[in-house]
Amino acid sequence: MKLNKQIIKILVSSVKATHEHELGCGECFDEIHEFAEMELLGKSPEKAKPLVKEHLEKCGECREEYKALLKAMENLEVYQ
Ligand SMILES: [Zn+2]
Repeated sequence: MKLNKQIIKILVSSVKATHEHELGCGECFDEIHEFAEMELLGKSPEKAKPLVKEHLEKCGECREEYKALLKAMENLEVYQ
């Protein structure tokens, strides 16, 4: 039993740690525009904003939003 409690403690703390480093959808939305801009400019957004990249990989909704944004921005003259 003692061992089980310890394992649970470790699991709980690792979940907590992950959450601290994860972006929520709201935070991701705030960064998505910059992320898309860097992508279009050929900079490496995944290096500058790894948390956004991570969130986009996990979250289908934000990924769709990002794709739509990227498409819309591609049509802007600035990025052509
Ligand atoms: Zn999201």
